[in-house]
Amino acid sequence: MSVGQTPTPTRALGRAIARGFIGRCPACGRGEVIRGYISPVATCNACGEDLSRYQTADFAPYIVTFFVGLVFTPLTFVLSLDEALGGWALYVTIGAALLTAILLLPRTKGAAIGLLWALDIPNT
Ligand SMILES: [Zn+2]
Repeated sequence: MSVGQTPTPTRALGRAIARGFIGRCPACGRGEVIRGYISPVATCNACGEDLSRYQTADFAPYIVTFFVGLVFTPLTFVLSLDEALGGWALYVTIGAALLTAILLLPRTKGAAIGLLWALDIPNT
């Protein structure tokens, strides 16, 4: 950068995703990115960043479904083969899969917004 040039604001990818994952604005880390369970906010209530430009559509549910399926499908299959465990292990595994999906969905939505914000990929 030459002297006198205004520095370009950085959009660090990892930081933006991490901030989104914990439900914070990817730009400032103070405002909320998700309202209620999974509704994205239009603008950050702390810095005013326009987050309505970054629509994630079904990206977060795809990621959650992929992750939960990848982890819990083989686990459920293996546990169902062991007759000594009885049926309770299967129910616990299915419950854990549901709980994981419910807990991950809003966090993944925030992380997806952070990803789009960091890469500056707005809706067209
Ligand atoms: Zn903000």
